[in-house]
Amino acid sequence: MEIAGIPDPNSSSAASSASPSRYESQKRRDWNTFGQYLNNHRPPLSLARCSGAHVLEFLRYLDQFGKTKVHTQMCPFYGHPNPPVPCPCPLRQAWGSLDALIGRLRAAFEENGGKPEANPFGSRAVRLYLREVRDLQSKARGVSYEKKKRKKPQGGGAESNGNNPPPSSSSTASAT
Ligand SMILES: [Zn+2]
Repeated sequence: MEIAGIPDPNSSSAASSASPSRYESQKRRDWNTFGQYLNNHRPPLSLARCSGAHVLEFLRYLDQFGKTKVHTQMCPFYGHPNPPVPCPCPLRQAWGSLDALIGRLRAAFEENGGKPEANPFGSRAVRLYLREVRDLQSKARGVSYEKKKRKKPQGGGAESNGNNPPPSSSSTASAT
């Protein structure tokens, strides 16, 4: 079940034996989204010069399209996954979405000729950032992150909807 804008991170995805083609098309979409992000980047940025820091920039940029409420520590609903009334806390990309997105982009980078040792999506900074986001969101929302429910892919091109990439079932990060 999904309440508007608040994906339920607790629902496990038993039925998400994602067909490879679906994963592949999602990956291609993500890769295009990232390519467009680079194209629109000011100052211009080529893939070859893209570092982990730029990937973090990209992830933060995606946050503006996020649909996951992340409570601040001042919010009375801090730690509540489903607050009874609206609060002004920001919407962010859910950790599970980002984690899955990075996984796909990391693969796409190498499939598109990138060298594994130069893969910005596999950089330490990105891993640390994802871990930070996971901790933050699990505390703020009072939930522990396991597998995320698979959402319907959003139609359309990558342009206006680099937002909220559907999580894939590939993320196996649970408790550490
Ligand atoms: Zn709040």
